[in-house]
Amino acid sequence: MLRGKTAVVTGASRGIGKAIALGMAQNGANVAIVYAASESSAHEVLKKAESFGVAARAYQCNVADWNEARSVCEKIAADFGSVDILVNNAGIIKDNLLRRMSEEDFNAVIGVNLSGAFNFTRHLSRFVMRSKAGRIINISSASGIMGNPCQANYSAAKAGMIGLTKTAAKEFSGKNVTCNAIAPGFIDTDMTAALPQAVKERISTTVPLRRMGTAEEVANLAVFLASELSSYITGEVIRVDGGLCM
Ligand code: NAP
Repeated sequence: MLRGKTAVVTGASRGIGKAIALGMAQNGANVAIVYAASESSAHEVLKKAESFGVAARAYQCNVADWNEARSVCEKIAADFGSVDILVNNAGIIKDNLLRRMSEEDFNAVIGVNLSGAFNFTRHLSRFVMRSKAGRIINISSASGIMGNPCQANYSAAKAGMIGLTKTAAKEFSGKNVTCNAIAPGFIDTDMTAALPQAVKERISTTVPLRRMGTAEEVANLAVFLASELSSYITGEVIRVDGGLCM
């Protein structure tokens, strides 16, 4: 489905990003695996991607850093020769009540989740626009749609990604590039592993499908949005949340 395309996935060493990178590779795309610190996990993802018969490379990069992001994006484009698909997935949380949240924690979460997505979109857009059917996919969150106690930084970043998605969709439409956001609900990854047990138990009553989602269930949508099957969908926010935000 994606044979001959090149996909860049940020935060691809673990969790949802890993599942997306492997989903892209399984469907024939070459993959650039961007990670922050988990070098050995990123290399495991790389080896697994290669086992699907595609080219894969791993790149260490703090997506929040404008200059670092620029040089890595240029290296990726030079290494692969083209970039067709960008998935802005890298994210962190630093939860606290709004009235106790530090400026540092607010800015850190905005920096990785929102500025990171801007940086990669900004630095790779000229390559993605050269693709005949470029795709940008931003991993937002149910928290960006509904808000969530203790997540003022994260909700603001994820809501910001929705605005970024719609603007990119409008600006890049003339080059046949689509830009969509995925809003996952509770997904079983390292990020949610730290949730208090009481919150995890509440998931079975607040989520209509009565369970957490898997990273692969998010990746399935990302692969669809990256493919030709989604050619008339742009500027959309699609929830993968078991009905949470319904
Ligand atoms: P995760 O398991 O904690 O993985 C986070 C990934 O982001 C890792 O690959 C990490 O790299 C990378 N990363 C973190 N900071 C980075 C930075 N500064 N520069 C580059 N990469 C960085 O998280 P996840 O649950 O898979 O979440 C993935 C995305 O989905 C995030 O944007 C998250 O907000 C969103 N999301 C998750 C859920 C959920 O329930 N899990 C729900 C809604 C939305 P290292 O391994 O190198 O640290």
